[in-house]
Amino acid sequence: MGYETATLALPLPWQKEVWDRFNHAVEVDRLPHALLLHGSNGVGKRRLAITFAQRMLCAAKANQYACGTCKSCKLLLAGSHPDLSILEPAEEGKKILVDDVRKLCTKLNTTAQQGGWKIGLILDADAMNINASNALLKSLEEPQGKTLLILISDRLHALLPTIRSRCQKQYLPIPNVGIVTDWLTEVSGNSADVSKAIEVSNGCPLLALHNIESGTLGMRQDFESVIEGVANGSMSSVDAAQKCAKLNGNNLVEWYMNYLHRLATNEGQGGADLSLFHFQDRLVSARKLLLSQSNVNQQLLLEGLFMDWAQSSSSRNN
Ligand SMILES: [Zn+2]
Repeated sequence: MGYETATLALPLPWQKEVWDRFNHAVEVDRLPHALLLHGSNGVGKRRLAITFAQRMLCAAKANQYACGTCKSCKLLLAGSHPDLSILEPAEEGKKILVDDVRKLCTKLNTTAQQGGWKIGLILDADAMNINASNALLKSLEEPQGKTLLILISDRLHALLPTIRSRCQKQYLPIPNVGIVTDWLTEVSGNSADVSKAIEVSNGCPLLALHNIESGTLGMRQDFESVIEGVANGSMSSVDAAQKCAKLNGNNLVEWYMNYLHRLATNEGQGGADLSLFHFQDRLVSARKLLLSQSNVNQQLLLEGLFMDWAQSSSSRNN
């Protein structure tokens, strides 16, 4: 989920508390050299990091937010502030490489061109390979004055422990559903799909917005009616697989897992039926297969999955 780096914005409504804490740290001159923002995909880590970087680079010091009119803000708006470096994988799923980290560190070690802070953002920090991580460690061990590194990660455990321990960690939790509902209704201008979008996004607001805006939500709803059709016997596994022929297999398995998880969570007091756990393992193997082989016959794979799903569902219904 990208967020325009050349747009000046305020923090998100559920980030007020952490925003105030960051600002307080600036006021009392206790800002750490490296911050690590972590939490689920879609809670707004990227947005918070960029917004805070902009606030730090703004030359109008009295403000809690980037002013939008000073020279520094104009450079930010043009996407060409020389003291802001942003590092992320070239493509989703790709690694951040050592040369790119070295370049970032060199830049942070030179004098700020605008006379203020130098800021490095590493989006998806857990995508750094081992060499890249080691190169960054050096920079974390020898922090320079008026430099700030902000790392972002959905998968804290995938970062080197030595990197984690040298950053001040800030966890961003999934916000309260009421706040998310209000915000999403407002920004999407679409109140009809809001609660479904929040549901399939595990409560993560920016993921929910992405699901609405990209049209993924509609596809997911269609997919869920296929799953339900197979479960209640109104659709054959062959027809179901055909209906999904044009969709990306990896996405389907993710959506299926998410559906299963919600089903298990909603099964109430007695806990989820064991057959759901078994079927989940079936999905895990399907995902492994899809990731490890490029020539998987998706139709056959889905037919097999749906057949097992039909069986698993009928055992639960009886
Ligand atoms: Zn400004």
